[in-house]
Amino acid sequence: MNDISASPNNTHLLPRLYIEESLGVGGVVPLSDESAHYLRHVLRQEDGALLRLFNAAQGEFLGRLDYVGKRAAQARIFSVLRAPEKTFRRVHALFSPLKKDKMDFLIEKAVELGVTDLHPLVFQRSIVRDVKEERLHAQIINAAEQCERLDIPVLHHLTPLTQLLRNWEMSVSILAAMERRDFPSLIQESSKIDDSIAYLVGPEGGLTDEEMTQLLNIKSVRPVSLGPRILRAETAVLFGLSIINQ
Ligand code: SAM
Repeated sequence: MNDISASPNNTHLLPRLYIEESLGVGGVVPLSDESAHYLRHVLRQEDGALLRLFNAAQGEFLGRLDYVGKRAAQARIFSVLRAPEKTFRRVHALFSPLKKDKMDFLIEKAVELGVTDLHPLVFQRSIVRDVKEERLHAQIINAAEQCERLDIPVLHHLTPLTQLLRNWEMSVSILAAMERRDFPSLIQESSKIDDSIAYLVGPEGGLTDEEMTQLLNIKSVRPVSLGPRILRAETAVLFGLSIINQ
């Protein structure tokens, strides 16, 4: 059993689980089958072990496992570790779905780099044209648990680019990465925006001329360059998010 009473600064070493339901000191939290399995079989936790429970609305808490069985577990909350964050800017990533391994990599790293909204889009040259939402949602939660975030990024439904642009909230600027054009750099343009921001990257085959024209005709779109080298789509997304995250 883990015991942090002697070293309260070591709470970061405790397992950390996202809980969708409301959390509060004194509360009893039934844990999902997957969490029970993870705690018992992967982390080898036993009844009485300490853990952390969190969500964006209430923050992060210290809890103790009442019991952890094969298919069920329950925790009891006894103190606050982190208050919820007040407001934070939204960072939207607009990208084409990729093949499984690249998509998994992209999702995990995008969560670590602070994305708040993931928008898979169908472009004219998109090769992959579907998204396994349930699987990706589980990966998003897993990445948020690992990287100490309180909020869980939103996975939006797969949408054609044209439809997204038609419904876009115009007050949010879209920095659109356009290859092989002489546009200002992403670093330069993103430093001018303090509010919520969106960042668009085309598919592996690139943006078509028609898509570039469509984007350039929208007031909230600011075209940007990522430098002289042509980056793979997943590299372009993560490069951009790490700059925006600064
Ligand atoms: N097949 C395209 C070509 O050869 O021109 C390259 C597409 S690139 C793999 C995928 C996307 O990443 C592009 O549509 C663009 O959004 C972004 N991208 C990659 N490198 C870029 C750069 N140097 N400047 C701007 N955007 C870039």
